[in-house]
Amino acid sequence: MNTPVFSNYIAGEWVDTGKYIENRNPANTDEIVGLHPKAVAADVEKAAAAAAGAFPKWAAMPGPARGAILYKTADILEHQFDSLGAEMTREEGKTLPEAKGEVRRAINIFRYYAGEGSRAGGILTPSERERVHTFAIRKPIGVVGLITPWNFPIAIPAWKIAPALICGNTIIVKPASVSPLSSWRIVEALHMAGVPKGVVNFLTGSGGELGGALVNAAPLKAISFTGSNEVGQWIHAEASRRRLRIQLEMGGKNPTIVLADADFNSAVENTVNAAFFSTGQKCTATSRVIVEDAIYPRFLEALISRTRKLKVGNGMEPGVDIGPCVDLGQLETVLKYIEIGRQEAGEPLVGGNRLTGGAHDKGFFVEPTIFAGVEEKMRIAQEEIFGPVLSVMRAKDFTDAMRIANNIPFGLSASIQTTNVSRVFDFVYGAEAGLLTVNLPSAGVEYQLPFGGTKDSSFGPKEQGPAAFDFYSDYKTVYLKY
Ligand code: NAP
Repeated sequence: MNTPVFSNYIAGEWVDTGKYIENRNPANTDEIVGLHPKAVAADVEKAAAAAAGAFPKWAAMPGPARGAILYKTADILEHQFDSLGAEMTREEGKTLPEAKGEVRRAINIFRYYAGEGSRAGGILTPSERERVHTFAIRKPIGVVGLITPWNFPIAIPAWKIAPALICGNTIIVKPASVSPLSSWRIVEALHMAGVPKGVVNFLTGSGGELGGALVNAAPLKAISFTGSNEVGQWIHAEASRRRLRIQLEMGGKNPTIVLADADFNSAVENTVNAAFFSTGQKCTATSRVIVEDAIYPRFLEALISRTRKLKVGNGMEPGVDIGPCVDLGQLETVLKYIEIGRQEAGEPLVGGNRLTGGAHDKGFFVEPTIFAGVEEKMRIAQEEIFGPVLSVMRAKDFTDAMRIANNIPFGLSASIQTTNVSRVFDFVYGAEAGLLTVNLPSAGVEYQLPFGGTKDSSFGPKEQGPAAFDFYSDYKTVYLKY
């Protein structure tokens, strides 16, 4: 079969650079899913100029008309639902049901923001003065850069692209190099839906090489980034120099607290789901489970037994629970942390190895791994691993568990498993994280609510739901005497 070759999208044209990055299947590295162009700094400048040129007309278009294009985009994606899911499994490795769930979410995001085109209002309040009418309208920011990671290759681009466009901004999208196809499909759908030339621009290529050109592109007014802390900090420093509007969503080290009064079986299930599904490659995944002393041995035993039943393999196969790490680099990071874990906490109670033999030899598979007796100061309790590695920690009681949960630099998601309503509210008010779950896995969010973290995990306004408007639009306040 011929390898599909994809193009970049600048000023409404499909453009090629003649040099490519390979998009390989992490479950079968013999398979190249596609070739995507390697853009250079000059392409970023062209994309930025196109976006700047298209901005006035797009911003002036009535919101419902912009919404109609987003609705059509959602419909086109809906028609491709099955193939989009399969492509995502092949490029990112997550299981087919997980990939389809993510495609569903992207479609819902487009429909949600399409509707906002006829809904999003401003502020209307009475004036202190007689015969003065006061109101504030929302206006777009201008050209916005959107940089996305590999782990949710369609949902994250969707939750940046859709609100950016409905607010009237024009955009340059730069997806992660290891999984660019899913977001390319969104751009293709927008093109088919009739988005005007220059409103959407899409560039693949190395972030390290394109990042400087993008952050420094003269027309750029704002940048939304999701990815690692290291890159996020660099973008923050560069973009602050130019006083760009900045939104950063970065790493996590998310805790699940399990109290003795929890519904035991669902606490086990929620922990295993949050720690290992999607190969632990969710920013909201649980990487520390903090268990109350009274049930620690019993919970650990149940956790081990449930984890042993997980099937690791090619996500296209039915019955597989966990796919591969996304690429060799990520596999090596996970294996490095497993070695660190061995030195800090001793032999893992489950897993601890790369999976080899048969079809596993073709991919980046690693066993779901559990370390017990993990202490707060250990690196496996403090640093993001972004793989199927769970640290089990023991807490004396609820207060101790909360202290351990909050004793990290990150603050993305946190979960508690308990039937005590007072503990639930103590957790809700005391947990230092932006996304909280109660008696659910720490991962698994919905698009109609604000999304984002606190502490080192995030910077700037939240994403998704109505909160996205705080980043993608600005107020213009009017005082009108009649
Ligand atoms: P990454 O290495 O930081 O890459 C993210 C994006 O930034 C990619 O498109 C990458 O391009 C680009 N990039 C790299 N260097 C750049 C530079 N100097 N300037 C501009 N862009 C640059 O992160 P990742 O490995 O893809 O994703 C995993 C991380 O994302 C984890 O830390 C995870 O926690 C975080 N994450 C956070 C959230 C959240 O909402 N908080 C959600 C998902 C993931 P290339 O691919 O070409 O390098």
